[in-house]
Formats: sequence, structure tokens, C-alpha cells
Amino acid sequence: MEKTKGQLLEEELSWKPGHIGIKKKEWVPEAAQFCEPYKAFLDAAKTERECVAQAVKVLEAAGYHPYDPKATYKTGDAVYEVERGKALIAAKFGARPLEEGVRLNIAHVDSPRLDLKPSPLFEKNEVAYLKTHYYGGIRKYQWATIPLALHGVVVLKDGRTLELSLGEKAGDPVFCITDLLPHLSAEQNKRTLAEGIKGEELNIVVGSLPYDDEKIKEPVKLAILALLHDEYGFAETDFARAEIEMVPAVKAADVGLDRSLVGAYGQDDRVCAYTALMAQAHSADPTYTAITVLADKEEIGSEGNTGINSAYLRTFLEGLAKAHGADAREMFRNSSCLSSDVNAAFDPTFHTVFEAGNSCYLNKGCVLTKYTGARGKSGSNDASAEYMAKVIDIMEAEGVFWQIGELGAVDVGGGGTVAKFVASLDIDTVDLGVPILSMHSPFELASKLDIYDTYRAFMAFFK
Ligand code: MN
Ligand code: MN
Repeated sequence: MEKTKGQLLEEELSWKPGHIGIKKKEWVPEAAQFCEPYKAFLDAAKTERECVAQAVKVLEAAGYHPYDPKATYKTGDAVYEVERGKALIAAKFGARPLEEGVRLNIAHVDSPRLDLKPSPLFEKNEVAYLKTHYYGGIRKYQWATIPLALHGVVVLKDGRTLELSLGEKAGDPVFCITDLLPHLSAEQNKRTLAEGIKGEELNIVVGSLPYDDEKIKEPVKLAILALLHDEYGFAETDFARAEIEMVPAVKAADVGLDRSLVGAYGQDDRVCAYTALMAQAHSADPTYTAITVLADKEEIGSEGNTGINSAYLRTFLEGLAKAHGADAREMFRNSSCLSSDVNAAFDPTFHTVFEAGNSCYLNKGCVLTKYTGARGKSGSNDASAEYMAKVIDIMEAEGVFWQIGELGAVDVGGGGTVAKFVASLDIDTVDLGVPILSMHSPFELASKLDIYDTYRAFMAFFK
């Protein structure tokens, strides 16, 4: 049937991102294939340190070498630098001089979780617990009654650094926070959802067998300490010399009968970290020097010396400029950055917190988020029209699907990313990433088509 004049005009003038599964059917199996190693990456990298270690493996396999700040590099050279084990910068030198700007892709590898307190171990009524302090924005009630794994490092007095990972392998014990049974929860049910489980109730069960000595007041605690000592040479003060994170002991999995989604812990923002890393490793000869940063501490405001608000990125970039005789300020000014981070996918079950016309949706491609922030865009970067146009043109030239998205309806809430910190270096920046359902929960969902499309967006950016 012939289209009417109105239909043709509508097609020409209006804009509605379509489902990639319809527009580009052949991507369905390609995306599924792309996500197999992605799921393995998520299982192997449940902390920022583990992400960085995995990234180093990927980069070395792709011919990257440790960065030497005194060396001069030529087109095609590939280097990486690890920042205190928790962040990473990788660079591939492009054909154009540094002064013409670099292309930066920055994702974060920290995810919301429960950190152990510096003195976490206690016993109550012959049960031993670990006290936690949550990291990043979590909905506390979601973290009770699920299996948790223990990951982290301890720097022992003898100088050894222990790397811990317990609860991931078959046969490993897991850990758990308890909650009330419905029969006895009438009082607790009157609490607001935010207080369903309170911060000081996020106590993790670690044991219930006592040390056999009636002179000991806290025999279960002692039995746990004895176990830690026998296994690792660990004493109670060593908790203060550690960074131990409790994360969901759940593996990444396909979700849905059609297997269209990936469900996993930590997809914010390891979905962007992984796709960025793959694009960095796969970019053969970028025009502009291609730089990927995997940053830490985004979830608490990019603080600390491994967060993007630290000097390390600037130091690295200024060092690059200096070693290659480029004017650093000129280089910054001409550079482009993708602040690669997830956005909240429209959730039909909870549609009232979204504004349907300016939300991102599953399966419609990577989401370009012009601004984040709260209320009147407070705390946001707010990319310029010129830079939005540039990034859209880059994507469209390579057939990348994209959509726009605000983080929820106006005045409902808000959030921030690394974008504003990069922009403060005088670098054009915009947020781009994957739409996520149940963001910051122990099991987040993302569409395989969106993940694959985001990888293609990053490849286009580094072309
Ligand atoms: Mn994020
Ligand atoms: Mn987040």
C-alpha cells in the first residue's frame, strides 16, 4: 500500500527510536555472542581492583605495554597505566598530533556494595557477625537474605598482601544478612521502605560454632578469628589494614525466555567499562589518540585519589603532552570525552517516576544523556549543542543506534557522573551509556542489543 502524504511527512520530520531487533535483525545473534565474554568478565571482576586486573589482561593480550612517562611514542603505540590498583588509563596513539586533541572514554569500575567496617567482627547470642558500611547508593532492604561473597585485600604486618575471594567458586561458603519472617514482621512492616532494613542492621552472619573453652566470653567470635588466623595468618587488627567488600554471590546470567537481557551485579558501570575496554583493545588505527579510563569512586562522587576528581588523569594527560612537545592547554581544549555511564531505563512497572518522552528504553541503543543532575540541572555537565551534534554525527556515520534520556522526570530525583569533572579540565564531555533496569540493585538488567550497540558507539568514537 502506498504511504499517504502525511505518513511520508511524519517519516521525514518526526523522530522515534525503534527497536534494534526490528531495525537490524542480524545484530540479535551478534549481540548474544558479544555478551558471552562480557558475562565472564562480570563474574571475574566484582570489585574495582578485580576489574583493573582483568583489564590489564585484555590490554596486554592486545599488545599494550606499561606506560613510561619519559618515553616518546609514535602512531599505533599502545600503553596502559594502573592507578593504585583501582583505576586504569589506556592509550593508543593516533595519527593526528596530540595538540589537535585526544578522544577520551571514561567509565567507572566501582559499584554499590557493602564494605566491611574497620572493626567489623562481633558476637551476639552465639552468632558471629561482620558489620558493614554501605558504599554508594543502595536500597538497603534489597541486600538482606541474598547470598553474599567476600572480596578484597588485606595488607598483613609481615608485608604480604592477601587477595581474598570467598563465595564465588562451587563449594565455597557464602554470607548473608538476615531479615524477619512475615509472621513476626507486623511492627517492621510499619517502617518506610527506606528503613525496611537500617544501616546498622546490615550485619553479615559469619559463624555459629564456639571455640571450646568456657573461660572465653565470646567463643564464636574467637573461633572465627582462629579460622582466619589458620587460613590467612590474619588477626582482628588486620581488618583495619584491609579493604573488604561484600557483593552478591550471584553469577551473570541470560534473562528471559528469549535470552535478550543480561542480569548481573555491577553492570553500573562495568557494562560501559567492558564495552569501552573492548573498543580500546579493538581500535586498530585511531585518527586521534584514543584513551580509555576506568575510574574508581564514581559512586561516592568521584572522590579520593583513584576517583576522576583526583589529579591522576590530568597528570597523565599533561605528561603525554610534555613528552611529545604539545601544548597541554591546547590539547585539553581540542579534546572530546564520552563520560560512559548507564542511565535508568524506562520501567513500565514504575512508570510514574519517568517522563516517557525523554526516557531511554531497552533495545533502542545507547543513551546519550545531555545532562544529569537534580532539580534545575544542579551538579550536571550539560553538554553543548555543538558537542551533542558532533557525537550524534560520529554515531550516525557508523550506523550506531542511539536515543536520548533524562534520569527520571524533573524533580523526582537525580544523579551525577564523572562528566562534570572532565568538563572542568576544559574538555567537551557528554554522558553516553547503556539503559539499565533495577540500577544499583544486587541484580541489574541490561539488553544485549544495547550493550553491543554501545560497543559500536565507542568504536565509532575511536575511529
Ligand atoms: Mn554509574
Ligand atoms: Mn551508579
